[in-house]
Amino acid sequence: PRRVVVVGAGMAGVQTAVALREEGFTGTVTLIGAEPHQPYDRPPLSKAVLLGTAEGSAFDIDFEALSLRLRLGCEALAVHPAEHVLDTSEGPEPYDVLVLATGAEPVRLPGTEGVPGVHLLRTLDDAARLRPVLTGRQDVVVVGAGWIGAEFATAAREAGCAVTVVEAADRPLAGVLPAEVTAPMAAWYAESGVTLRTDARVERAEPGAVVLDDGTRLPAGAVVVGIGARPATAWLAGSGIELGAHGEVLADDRLRTSVPDVYAVGDCASFPSARYGERLLVHHWDNALQGPRTVAAQVMGRDVVYDPVPYFWSEQFGRFVQYAGHHTDADSMVWRGDASGPAWSVCWLRENRLVALLAVGRPRDVAQGRRLIESGRPLDPALLPDASRPLKAA
Ligand code: FAD
Repeated sequence: PRRVVVVGAGMAGVQTAVALREEGFTGTVTLIGAEPHQPYDRPPLSKAVLLGTAEGSAFDIDFEALSLRLRLGCEALAVHPAEHVLDTSEGPEPYDVLVLATGAEPVRLPGTEGVPGVHLLRTLDDAARLRPVLTGRQDVVVVGAGWIGAEFATAAREAGCAVTVVEAADRPLAGVLPAEVTAPMAAWYAESGVTLRTDARVERAEPGAVVLDDGTRLPAGAVVVGIGARPATAWLAGSGIELGAHGEVLADDRLRTSVPDVYAVGDCASFPSARYGERLLVHHWDNALQGPRTVAAQVMGRDVVYDPVPYFWSEQFGRFVQYAGHHTDADSMVWRGDASGPAWSVCWLRENRLVALLAVGRPRDVAQGRRLIESGRPLDPALLPDASRPLKAA
């Protein structure tokens, strides 16, 4: 191919462009991004950027030196695979290879849309709008006790805001982790001075308040909705590119879509994992770093299969939480360390092989665990609870 067009100038898109150059691709690489800003990294938006300890989080990449053509403030509107043309807000863009890296969009909460003071947290602009809420120490209601909700609550407490988190489920991270594991995490909220209201549903927002479905009114200078994200793929309707149940692009194990010469990577796409025997839709940074290497290799004619051990981290309530693997098909769970203390891990096993691990303040467990999951070698479960022993194969 001579012309590669990448749609989406976030982590996955930018890494694809860089990986193409690293692979020795000498043709034209065009990065199309809807946002007007220089491409930037998202994790700092709920951490340093929000707190104002970092001004921004632009990627430290010299696009010009790498001959990467940036078209910012430009939105892709449609793909015509038969003609190999992308329609954009700035006109048509022909391609030989197209890479979809449009990421995800936060889910909006019915009853709160368009109400002044209601925020989402996905973009640099969102973070900029939330900064004054923190500096003004406003009372905040966070909707959703997921990763984003916990990180925002952490930053808002650090800034001195009064924070209430409203969660529809009976506990934080209900869709992601089992109740035994989230029980110690729920305690972090109270310990940090955050009011956590579980089994609570928001009916609507009003200027200055949130109203729950039991009639409770919570005063709120600002409301932050963190109830999940959906792949940003509405614009692909009618293109013939196959989408899955969550609107994600259905990629194969080489990150190819159902249409020739079109790849998909990052938050917008799912892929079949041979390692875990199911399709994975990963909304984490490491996937947007690793996937692009497979795409670039494929474009250069090197056949590489994508089957990562998923990994992510979260910084919440003064803790460093890390997770590696995928635990849905595990047959047992083993604790390392005391979950009421500052550092502990949970290991998920299947037939004496480590398939996933969650670590709080134990980065070494994660480093060792990732390798162990990757290798698939069996371990001795009887030795696992001894947190002073390294995680290694039997
Ligand atoms: P995105 O980063 O969403 O980038 C996609 C880009 O495509 C966007 O800029 C979008 O504007 C653009 N786009 C969309 N549609 C179009 C179109 N039609 N035309 C042109 N451009 C388009 N992960 C972790 O592992 N750890 C963390 O601590 C962590 N913290 C996070 C904190 C926040 C606040 C957020 C929002 C995410 C966090 N994540 C974290 C997740 C991580 O940032 C994402 O997984 C990662 O950004 C995905 O990269 P991406 O390139 O696939 O998508």
